[in-house]
Amino acid sequence: MKVFSNSPTIKRAFAALLLGSLLSVQLFAQAVAPATAPAASPLLAVEKELADKITVQNIKDVTTALSADDMEGRGTAQPGGDKAANWIAERFKSLGLKPLGDKGNYLQKIEFKETVATPETSFKVGDQSLDYGSDFAFVPQNNGNKEASGDLVFVSYGIQAKQANIDMLAGANLMGKVVIITQGPPPGFPEKDWEKQKASTMIRRNIISQGAAALIFIGNGTGEHTPEEAINYLSRRQISLPGEEGYPPQVPPFVYLSTKGAEKVFASTGMSLKDALAQGNTREFKAISLKQKAKLVAKYKVTKGTSNNVVGYLEGSDPKLKEEAVLFSAHYDAYGSENGKIYHGAADNALGTAEMLAVAEGFSKLTQKPKRSLIFLSVTGEEYGLYGSKHWAKNPTWDIKKVAADLNLDGIGSEVYGPVKTMVGYGAEHSSLGSMLEGLAKTMDISVIPDPMPDEKVFYRSDHYSFVERGVPSLMLLGAPAGDKEVWMKRIKDWEKTDYHQPGDVIQPNWAWDGAETVADVMGVLGWRISETEAMPTWLPTGRFGKLERGNTKDLPPEP
Ligand SMILES: [Zn+2]
Repeated sequence: MKVFSNSPTIKRAFAALLLGSLLSVQLFAQAVAPATAPAASPLLAVEKELADKITVQNIKDVTTALSADDMEGRGTAQPGGDKAANWIAERFKSLGLKPLGDKGNYLQKIEFKETVATPETSFKVGDQSLDYGSDFAFVPQNNGNKEASGDLVFVSYGIQAKQANIDMLAGANLMGKVVIITQGPPPGFPEKDWEKQKASTMIRRNIISQGAAALIFIGNGTGEHTPEEAINYLSRRQISLPGEEGYPPQVPPFVYLSTKGAEKVFASTGMSLKDALAQGNTREFKAISLKQKAKLVAKYKVTKGTSNNVVGYLEGSDPKLKEEAVLFSAHYDAYGSENGKIYHGAADNALGTAEMLAVAEGFSKLTQKPKRSLIFLSVTGEEYGLYGSKHWAKNPTWDIKKVAADLNLDGIGSEVYGPVKTMVGYGAEHSSLGSMLEGLAKTMDISVIPDPMPDEKVFYRSDHYSFVERGVPSLMLLGAPAGDKEVWMKRIKDWEKTDYHQPGDVIQPNWAWDGAETVADVMGVLGWRISETEAMPTWLPTGRFGKLERGNTKDLPPEP
C-alpha cells in the first residue's frame, strides 16, 4: 500500500504515512454478515481445473525470484525495477500472453522524477550539527531547496482554545522564528476528535500565518506513531511525476526530529526535552523562547528517470465479449535499494505479483478459454502514490469503457499465516462484485468479513482505486487464516512495526504457502465468473459510486 496521500496538506500526508500501523483490533466487533447473504455457488469443472493449474510451486518460485537480492528491491526508476519489469515481461511471453504495453511491447513506460537529499542538507542548533536520517528529516514536498534560520520557540501543541482557557501561543511573536511543535493529540485527548477537528492542520496554518521561518515537529512519547517512523520514510529517495507540484513556495520548511534529535536540540538550550514535554502537557502552558538559534538547509538533487508497467493479455473466445476484458493487477515495485540496504518487498508485493502470475499461468493452460479477454497488469510506482496504475488508468491500452472489473492484490502477507479461511474484499460493498465474492467464498469455506481496519482507509490506498476513479468496479482481495481474528491482526501489527516497507520484508521459513494459492484461486475463479457473465459488473445504485460510469474523468468526491 502506498504511504503518502497525494493531498498537498501535510496533515493528510503524515496521517497516510503512518496509517500502515493503525490497525485497531476492536473494529472486528462489527457485524460480519451482509444483509442478504448470497448462496454458495459450487465450482464448475472448468473452475476446478483452473484452481488445479494455479500452483503453490509457481507462486513460491516467482516470489523467491522477485524478492531475491539481485532484483535490488524492484525500485521505481532504479535498475532493479527495470530488471523486475523485464523478468515479468519474459514470464508473460512464456505464458503466451500478448503484449499490451507501448507499441507492441509488454512495457508501458512512465517518466519519473527522483528527489534525493544531498550532504548539504543540515540542521544546526548553536554550533552542534544533527544527523540527517536519524536525528531529523525534512518533508521533501517543498520541491527541493530551502533555507531557514531563526530563534527557537517551543509552543508545545500550539493549541489556542479561548473557551477552555488554553492559549499556548499567548504572548509569543512567531515572526521569523523556528517553531518547535509537539505532535498532537495531547495525552488523554481522543485521537478521533483530534482528527475530526483537523486540529493539526489548523494549528500548522495558524503558526505559518504568524510568519514562522520553519516548523519543527517532535513526538510526545505517548502516541502510537513516532517521529522516527516519519524520518525513516522522509529521508529515503522520493519518487514523483516530473510536473508534480509540491507545496506553494511560501510554505516554510517542515522538519521531523527524532527523540534523540529533540534531546540534542533542547540540551543546547539548557532545558531538557523531558521538562519541556512535561510543561507542555499542562493547560497553563505558554510558548517558551529557547534563547538559541537554529539554521536549516534542505538541499536536494533532482534527477529524471523512467520505470515501466508490464501489461499482457489473453484474448477471449466469445466473438462479442472478447472486446471486453477482466483486469488483474498487482504492483511489483518495492522501495528499491538505497544506502546499501535492499527493500526486498517479499510480502509487499512480490507475493501478490506471484499470485497474479499464477492466475495468468492457470488461464494460459486452461482447456476452455474464457469468453472475455483477460488483462494482466503489473504496475510500478505504487508505493509513492499509485503512479503506475493511475498512469494506465489515464492512458489505458484497452478501452476503459470495456474493462469489466479490476481484481487487485497488494499484500501484507497475512495469506501465508495458515490456510486462508477469512477474506476481505476491499470495495465489495460498492458493487455487484461483493455478492460474487460471497458466493464463491461460501463454496470454498471462506468467510468474507468487512474491512477490519476502516481507519486505515486501505480502499483508497492501493491500485484498484485508480480504476474505481475511472468507473470500473474493483476489488482488492486480502486473505487471512481461521481462528481468533485478534491473533492474526496482532501478527500483522507486529510485522508492520518491524518489517513493513523495511529491508526485513523477506520470505519467512514459516510461511504457509497454501494460503497464497487459495487467494490466487479466488482471484482466478472470480475472474472466470466475471468473464462468463453476460453483463459486466455494476456499481450498487444506492452506494457511494452508484452514479459512476466506466470511462469517468471527473474527480470523485473526497474520501469520507
Ligand atoms: Zn504494496
